[in-house]
Amino acid sequence: MKAIRIHEFGEPEVLQLEEVADLTPEAGQVVVRMHAVGVNPVETYIRSGIYPKPPTPFTPGSDGAGVIEAVGEGVDRVAVGDRVYLAGSLSGTYAEQALCKQEQVHPLGEQASFAQGAAVFVPYGTAYQALFHCGHASPGETLFVHGASGGVGIAGVQLGRAAGMTVIGTASTERGRQLVSEQGAQHVLDHSAASYLEDVQTLTDGRGVDVILEMLANVNLAKDLDLLALRGRVVVIGNRGEKNQGTIEINPRAAMMRDASIIGMTLRNATPQDHVRIHSALVAGLANGTLRPVIGQELPLAEAAQAHRAVSGAGKAYGKVVLIP
Ligand code: NAP
Repeated sequence: MKAIRIHEFGEPEVLQLEEVADLTPEAGQVVVRMHAVGVNPVETYIRSGIYPKPPTPFTPGSDGAGVIEAVGEGVDRVAVGDRVYLAGSLSGTYAEQALCKQEQVHPLGEQASFAQGAAVFVPYGTAYQALFHCGHASPGETLFVHGASGGVGIAGVQLGRAAGMTVIGTASTERGRQLVSEQGAQHVLDHSAASYLEDVQTLTDGRGVDVILEMLANVNLAKDLDLLALRGRVVVIGNRGEKNQGTIEINPRAAMMRDASIIGMTLRNATPQDHVRIHSALVAGLANGTLRPVIGQELPLAEAAQAHRAVSGAGKAYGKVVLIP
């Protein structure tokens, strides 16, 4: 089978398509024939060497969707022929096949395409963990998705609406704002405009927002604190910057005056119990149509380098970038 392999860390060109041995499942494992692979910003950080480095060579990726091709002894959660989405793997997902523990695959109904299945785990898992487990969001509250046009932002908008929240989302282009509106946000603002923060206050009658999902904290965290309602929560999902050292100055008084919380999160820290809740909710949401992953771009597996350029922050996000093996 063919797989993308990284032999050394560096620019997107280190993503090389190679012929590797077919995979065989051991007890409790399954092999998935991959139909689509989700590309996330974190894979660009790992590839470039600014994140902890896995031993080389390796196949990157944790998201994807496909059909169960083989099962090992004792596998009872899925069977050969089942459509599944992946939540991590043992072998890496940028490939024609992926080896997974049976707990790492989840049912993908016919309502969702394989490309949509490849856009579930990291974006929706992160948004769910941030919104509910970290941000303790409740129906009736107001949610501000600061950066709503990308993979995690769209998931946050859909999850917030499905939970009965009032959702305000932002994007910097007209096309992005249209997309955020189509996902159900009741109000859409432009995070590159001068007056958008005042608009948040106007939209909430000066009360502020209860929960913020923040995609670019190194730019926005100080402003976020001024937007919060009493006992509001900012959940830091994204923080970028030179050599991953994005820093920002904040005024702690802004948090103090509101009994506000700043909560950092990474999906990697989710507990097994969190994962059970996350996937139960995501499988149900895909089935009932409240969760509808948006695909911005599909590329052949061989063009993984181009996919990494697309998610590196250089371009605008309009949903997910997906590779097709
Ligand atoms: P993405 O698809 O590339 O989307 C990036 C989003 O950030 C877009 O909506 C973009 O909007 C927005 N943005 C750009 N400039 C902004 C600004 N000044 N203020 C607010 N938003 C701005 O990326 P993603 O997959 O959604 O991931 C978003 C971030 O979360 C990334 O930094 C990623 O590394 C991080 N992340 C963290 C975790 C975790 O576990 N903590 C998991 C997944 C992702 P426009 O394009 O319209 O400007």
